[in-house]
Amino acid sequence: MKKISVVGAGISGLSIANYLEKHQLDYHIYERRKQDDLTGHGFLLPKEGIEYLSQIIDLSLLYKQGKFLKKYIRYSHTGKILAEKDLHDVFVISRNSLIKILAQNIPAEKISYEETISPCNLQKGKLKKHDGTYLDSDLAIISDGSRSRIRRKIFEDEKMKAVLENEVVNIIENEEIASRLENNFLKFHHENGGLTFGVLKLSSTKILWYCQFDITRFFINDDYTPDCIKQFIVDNFGDWNPLISSIINDSTYENAHIWRVYELEKLNPFYYENVVFIGDAAHPLIPFTSQGVTSALKDSYVLTNLLLEGNNLPETFQKYEEVRKAEIEIHIKNGRALLNQFLLPLNEQQKNTLPISYK
Ligand SMILES: Cc1cc2nc3c(=O)[nH]c(=O)nc-3n(C[C@H](O)[C@H](O)[C@H](O)COP(=O)(O)OP(=O)(O)OC[C@H]3O[C@@H](n4cnc5c(N)ncnc54)[C@H](O)[C@@H]3O)c2cc1C
Repeated sequence: MKKISVVGAGISGLSIANYLEKHQLDYHIYERRKQDDLTGHGFLLPKEGIEYLSQIIDLSLLYKQGKFLKKYIRYSHTGKILAEKDLHDVFVISRNSLIKILAQNIPAEKISYEETISPCNLQKGKLKKHDGTYLDSDLAIISDGSRSRIRRKIFEDEKMKAVLENEVVNIIENEEIASRLENNFLKFHHENGGLTFGVLKLSSTKILWYCQFDITRFFINDDYTPDCIKQFIVDNFGDWNPLISSIINDSTYENAHIWRVYELEKLNPFYYENVVFIGDAAHPLIPFTSQGVTSALKDSYVLTNLLLEGNNLPETFQKYEEVRKAEIEIHIKNGRALLNQFLLPLNEQQKNTLPISYK
């Protein structure tokens, strides 16, 4: 059986490692961060994502760490309800919690933390460890995220472009505010468009909130300090609905993140020689789609099954790309449509749009 290296232990890398472990394939996973150095945001997971997770993890662990959402409620920034929709099997969980659950099934000897894998300058597709030695696997699965260095080295002509929307994401512990929220997804929209604030309850004490802003109209300093992020939030959302002002005033900002969003102008091939890309490394998806995690899980599922069929690598990778690219193109198109809606004044937006891309 082939020896496999996996580069990156985010959701995609860990999910494929779980599939490889389940099918007793020979693999090792390399991750540049420290084991406990987890920062990040949270995800909406549609039903399909949970189905793929159910094949590799114990779902009771998942259910302890997040919540199913009942309704999506769309508000104006002053708090007037604009639309409501029931949500069926849409789950919310923090990235950290999902990563911890996925990492539990990987034996310690099969994962190396603090190991950055770099592309070799002289030979495309060859990968080396920080001590200068080369990875000696038969194939490498690259899951190093949307700004993948390995992808950029192999596909030197690719063009990444800044998306017109950026986000600030924060997860806070606040039992009092959490007790005031039901398990609904609340999203507030400014009447001029290009500015929203979303609130999701993760547990009886934890809340995830995020804002989305049009980067041509709202500017946040590149100095990513908690004070600077707080100032941006207070300046732009301080006079919104009272629920939002109480959330932003009672939040701490040490763990708040600014997400500068980028996308590929055109998708690259999903493989090169014995190197294959999954998750954001293959196809960065803008946050509007809410499909990044589910797509990563599906990539892992499809690729593992094709590897198990035992065909030669070019055939396996070609089939993988054929199956996955078509669906990803749909999410990219839906994501761009959701972005265009977001940029419009509220009275020109479609009323019943869910903040998620369905194929
Ligand atoms: C603001 C925001 C909101 C989002 N909301 C949602 C949502 O609601 N629903 C949803 O499904 N998705 C959402 N997404 C997308 C989702 O986060 C990703 O699609 C998903 O996490 C898959 O990521 P990944 O594992 O492919 O990459 P990443 O999470 O970026 O993981 C890459 C890993 O590789 C490691 N790494 C990088 N380079 C190297 C190297 N050279 N060597 C070794 N290791 C390396 C990194 O340290 C990291 O751990 C959102 C994303 C953002 C930014």
